[in-house]
Amino acid sequence: MKPGLARHVKQPRVLPVATVCATMRHVSQEAPPPAAGAAARLRDRLAGVERSPESVRVGVLRAGVGAVRRGRLWVTAYVPDLMPPVAIVGGSRPGPVVAIVGGVHGGETASIQAVRELVGRLRPDALAGTVILVPVANVAAFRDRRPFVNPLDGQDLNESFPGAGRGGPTTRLAHALSEHVLTVADVVIDLHAGELIQAVDELVLVEAGPSSSPSDAPAAAMDLAEVFGLARVIVTHQPRSLIAAAQAMGKPAIAAQAAQRGTVSPSAGDALRDGALRVLAALGMWPEAPPAAPALQLHAGWAVATSTVDGFWLPAIQVGDRVQAGQPLGTVDPLDGTGTPADVSAPADGRVVGVVISLAAAASTALVLIARPETAWPGGVDPGPDRG
Ligand SMILES: [Zn+2]
Repeated sequence: MKPGLARHVKQPRVLPVATVCATMRHVSQEAPPPAAGAAARLRDRLAGVERSPESVRVGVLRAGVGAVRRGRLWVTAYVPDLMPPVAIVGGSRPGPVVAIVGGVHGGETASIQAVRELVGRLRPDALAGTVILVPVANVAAFRDRRPFVNPLDGQDLNESFPGAGRGGPTTRLAHALSEHVLTVADVVIDLHAGELIQAVDELVLVEAGPSSSPSDAPAAAMDLAEVFGLARVIVTHQPRSLIAAAQAMGKPAIAAQAAQRGTVSPSAGDALRDGALRVLAALGMWPEAPPAAPALQLHAGWAVATSTVDGFWLPAIQVGDRVQAGQPLGTVDPLDGTGTPADVSAPADGRVVGVVISLAAAASTALVLIARPETAWPGGVDPGPDRG
């Protein structure tokens, strides 16, 4: 996942963060589950949106009952690399429409693997409703092995939503995804992972506006995060992200990232694939759900530690470590091998959820992402039949 990590920012910063709302209940796992669990609440919210797959269109691609349709999303005829592949799995009976997008950041290959696996696994005869699958949203970045940004214009797609029909390549790409995928879906899942130069933790992101407070996060997105079932959820604010655009349209939306360390392995996308299957099962669209994490930790926002100089980044921490404000995270040694290394210290208390694993550090480049200290999931997680 990029979460602002390893891109250039003006100065070391602490992103807007609020403490967990005092009115939220912090109940242990032993507490009785809420009367209506997250899955039931999600289903209730989507009651009445059931559609036959025949009525679903993504651009010129029309879904079919009991059919898989494949094509490309038209963006502009002049740049073929901008047109993401799309598969639409039409179920055998009506149901909601869920969009699952991978590769918004083209080097986050675990997200791409997860969506590709779903294309193969979702059998139309076992599915209700429609699933729109975009394995690689940022084709040019994927093909160019370019972390974070689209090589055609240097823009971050996840900072370009909702986009516009006129403008640069990334602006147009965001617009096409907004117009033809996000508007069509009832639920949106945006998948990320460790970039080519990152180690990251496995987690779900919920968009909550500038406060980054769980109390400002839409209840539907929190339910969706709970159902997705990864152990860690960060409530944060990325105003021009894909999920922020979906949320502005009133759609429940989350982003999730796999614990990839800038590498490729056959199982790298499994956690994301399984989370998506849990959502589909919770919505009554798919017959089975893999076990979810037994407990969820909630983080209200994050902070980013950046480099102050160009040089060689030598981290002293790793993903999963707890850190305190001011704690040394590593050093950036001068490029010419002389002089004093520059210390990089934690801007806030929390848990390390992302670390740049490339030696290269540029001044003002983010190096470590720290999720604010965790609390138990409010109300306790819905134990449900599918929780391990
Ligand atoms: Zn990402």
